[in-house]
Amino acid sequence: MNTHSTKAQLFASLTAYLQDLQESGLDGIPADLATLKETDTAQQPAAIPKQSIESKMTEELNTPEIHETLEQIRKSLGPCQRCKLGATRKNLVFGVGNPKARLVFVGEGPGADEDAQGEPFVGDAGKMLNRIIAAMELKREDVYICNVVKCRPPQNRPPESDEVSTCSPFLLRQLQSVKPEVIVALGTSAAQALLQTKIPISKMRGKFHDFHGMPLMPTYHPSYLLRTGGNSDSFWSVWDDMTQVLQYLKLPVPNKSRNK
Ligand code: SF4
Repeated sequence: MNTHSTKAQLFASLTAYLQDLQESGLDGIPADLATLKETDTAQQPAAIPKQSIESKMTEELNTPEIHETLEQIRKSLGPCQRCKLGATRKNLVFGVGNPKARLVFVGEGPGADEDAQGEPFVGDAGKMLNRIIAAMELKREDVYICNVVKCRPPQNRPPESDEVSTCSPFLLRQLQSVKPEVIVALGTSAAQALLQTKIPISKMRGKFHDFHGMPLMPTYHPSYLLRTGGNSDSFWSVWDDMTQVLQYLKLPVPNKSRNK
C-alpha cells in the first residue's frame, strides 16, 4: 500500500469515527468536519484533535455522561463501508444477547455461517461457545456476544490492523453501552486487538487483564477447541478461565470431572 492511500484510508477512518462521536453528542468536534473531503489534506491538522484515536476512544469509554443504546450504535453504523471488509460481506454482524449483560464474549470476526445469518457464533464454533456457556449454567440470552470486526474477512483470514482500527471504535461503544462486569476475549486476534499486544494467547489466558477499567479474561477460541477435542488440555484450560470468571461474578461454579 502506498503512503498516499494509507494516509487517505487513515483519514477516512478517522473522519468516520469523529462523525460518529459527533452524532453521539461528544463535545469538541469541529462543526465543519462533515464538509471535509478526503483530498482536502490541507485542512487535516486543523480538523483532527491532537489526541490519538486510542486516547479518544479511552476518553469516550470513560465518559459517564455519554450513554448510547445498542440500537443507536447499530444505527450509526448504517450500511457500513468504512473498511474494505464491507465490500465482500453478506450481512453485517453487530452482536446479540442481553443489552445489560454482566458478561460479554468478544470474538475475532464473523465466519461463513455468521455472515449468512447476520448473528455471531452460530456455526460449529458457536455451538462450542453455547456448550461453554451452558457448562457455566448460563443461557446464551444472559450474555452479550460480539466480534472485533463486524464483517467477515475473506477466506476467514484474521482481520488486518486497518480493519481492526476502523471497526473497533464501534465495539468500544458497544462495551460502553452494555457495561459488563467481565469481558472474555475469545482467541488470539480478539485478545491482541483489545489489549493492544502481540503476546500469544497461551501466555495471556488464565489471568485477568485491565481493559479500560473492566476485567478482561483472554481464553482460547471455541474453534481451537473443536480442533483439539472436547476433553483436551485446552478445553480444560478454558474451563479454568471460565471458573475464574464465575468466581469474579460471584456465581456458583459447577463441579466438572475431568475424564483423563
Ligand atoms: S468491518 Fe466494521 S468498519 Fe469494516 S465495513 Fe464492516 S462494520 Fe464497517
